[in-house]
Amino acid sequence: MKYSHISVSAGEKLEVNPDGTIRTPAKPIIAFVEGDGTGPDIWRASKRVFDAAVSRCYGASRSVAWMEVHAGEKANALYGSYLPDETLDAIRDYRVAIKGPLTTPIGGGFRSLNVSLRQKLDLFACVRPVRHFAGVPSPVVAPEKIDMIIFRENTEDVYAGLELEEGSENAQKFIAFAKREFGWDIRPDSGLGFKPISKSGSRRIVRAALNHAVKHDRKSVTLVHKGNIMKYTEGAFRKWGYELVREEFSNVAVGWDDCGGKPGDKILVKDTIADIFLQQILTRPTDFDVVATMNLNGDYMSDALAAQVGGIGIAPGANINYETGAAIFEATHGTAPKYANLDKVNPSSLILSGVMMFDHIGWTEAARAITAALVETYKSKIVTYDFARLMEGAREVKCSEFAQAVIGNLK
Ligand code: NAP
Repeated sequence: MKYSHISVSAGEKLEVNPDGTIRTPAKPIIAFVEGDGTGPDIWRASKRVFDAAVSRCYGASRSVAWMEVHAGEKANALYGSYLPDETLDAIRDYRVAIKGPLTTPIGGGFRSLNVSLRQKLDLFACVRPVRHFAGVPSPVVAPEKIDMIIFRENTEDVYAGLELEEGSENAQKFIAFAKREFGWDIRPDSGLGFKPISKSGSRRIVRAALNHAVKHDRKSVTLVHKGNIMKYTEGAFRKWGYELVREEFSNVAVGWDDCGGKPGDKILVKDTIADIFLQQILTRPTDFDVVATMNLNGDYMSDALAAQVGGIGIAPGANINYETGAAIFEATHGTAPKYANLDKVNPSSLILSGVMMFDHIGWTEAARAITAALVETYKSKIVTYDFARLMEGAREVKCSEFAQAVIGNLK
């Protein structure tokens, strides 16, 4: 395909096998969006770590052909659009991308670029691993007990963007329709939002969580919901999840009610109410392993858990469609504009998102090497300002110097 502002790098496309696994060539073309604000700083630092890890693990036999695609302010300057069609086309075509944070333009009816990217590419799983690295400052007493991975449904729920403004003709129409057809009394001065939760959408996110649990030898999958209140959306999510376990995973997993909480050597699938979950991740985090949930719950849960292990500066994330293999790996924090171009902020979130990316494409040696080098770097207390201000005896370094220290610790 010919693009107007994208130069295709010399390399090969990743392909997807019929079973959804990725076929990675020796020089895969991977798209990147450096992002706005602090994005360019953390992208430069992360890319150096990625290239050094690949070179250390595979010598000259493998390398990544990075291909810049544009979104956010840079895209707006080039195309007059914050999310140009050719960026979406290129990510669809080349399948895997990694991105820094993007500014959400205020006003003008913009929706978040991140939400748009996820929905337009149908990246239905937002995957957020949460674990603690020794030495990283945490507000809880025993952060090392946290080792979870959240599978958050990414395309439905109140994030679907189905909203009607208070006082608008459509809101009035809907309120009259709901009274006429269902006898619902909605206050006339209400804004309205819709919460679609589909059976197919619920099943595919629970399936992704279960597949992950099987592949990585995890002990349990917890479905988190508010089904006690929202019976036909969140309650149905729970019901469909357990049905899926019986229909597709009965040889490897079992629902709580089908085994009385005693799964034997199978993966235990259980459920919990979202508000209790937020309490229990503090009081007994070892009860949770893989977690599957809907969009809004997942949003709150991911950030609450990230805070427990060191905050958004270190939390990685991925948005994946396991059916097409398309995936965007991303820093989970925002653009932190006050620190833009100061070479100051922590690149760990983007570096760890790269670890997830290397796992996704099957370059697990590179993923493991980067993780081990990060562990060493935190242990030696060489950190950026955000951790340094919370650590005794830390050596505060710039974003690029942190990357250099990680590279120095690659084995
Ligand atoms: P933010 O950019 O995440 O920054 C909030 C604070 O978090 C920063 O002031 C800083 O704390 C800390 N922080 C963020 N990134 C850090 C890093 N890499 N290392 C260390 N500390 C870091 O949130 P915001 O100010 O609310 O949002 C700014 C813009 O980002 C908005 O346009 C928003 O829409 C966008 N955003 C984008 C994404 C995304 O692309 N995924 C996500 C969220 C927000 P201190 O001030 O304490 O140093």
